[in-house]
Amino acid sequence: MAANKIRVATTSLAGCFGCHMSFLDIDERLLELLEHIEFDRTPLTDIKHCGPCDIGLIEGGVCNAENVHVLKEFRKNCKILIAMGACAFNGGVPALRNHYSLKECLEESYLNGVGVVNPLIPNDPEIPLLLNKVHPIHEIVKIDYFLPGCPPSGDAIWTFLNELLAGQEISLPYQAIHYD
Ligand code: SF4
Repeated sequence: MAANKIRVATTSLAGCFGCHMSFLDIDERLLELLEHIEFDRTPLTDIKHCGPCDIGLIEGGVCNAENVHVLKEFRKNCKILIAMGACAFNGGVPALRNHYSLKECLEESYLNGVGVVNPLIPNDPEIPLLLNKVHPIHEIVKIDYFLPGCPPSGDAIWTFLNELLAGQEISLPYQAIHYD
């Protein structure tokens, strides 16, 4: 590994991996990016823990105790932390459950919902403890940049990373981030 490469980690918390799929939409430009960066923990490398990094990209909000642990590990080890996509930004789709109590959500999913057979709320200690609400990641740790979109486009991610790596002020064009 080249010593002067920017080290990047990514993870998905309470998200759908759509933002990571969008990251891969950089397509062949990923090879160009890899001339300047190397990956630490990410679904692409399957490294399980985030080591010291320059940049951490976080997809998804925070819905359980494991998400809190992973997010704090990223904050501790990454110089720059980026909220990538609506779920990280504001809780997104998973935060729709915030309109209901956790008890109501579990009962609807595992006891009373359409198509439920063998009604039983899972309580294995191996399962991460659910939080009462889904949180945007800035409510748990300090975030340095917010990249909006559901998901942000590959072009937006590409432009964002290039400007960040070049030490420029981030200035995404309106066309890259409008959703009207
Ligand atoms: Fe999926 Fe959209 Fe959330 Fe990204 S922002 S993880 S694409 S739901």
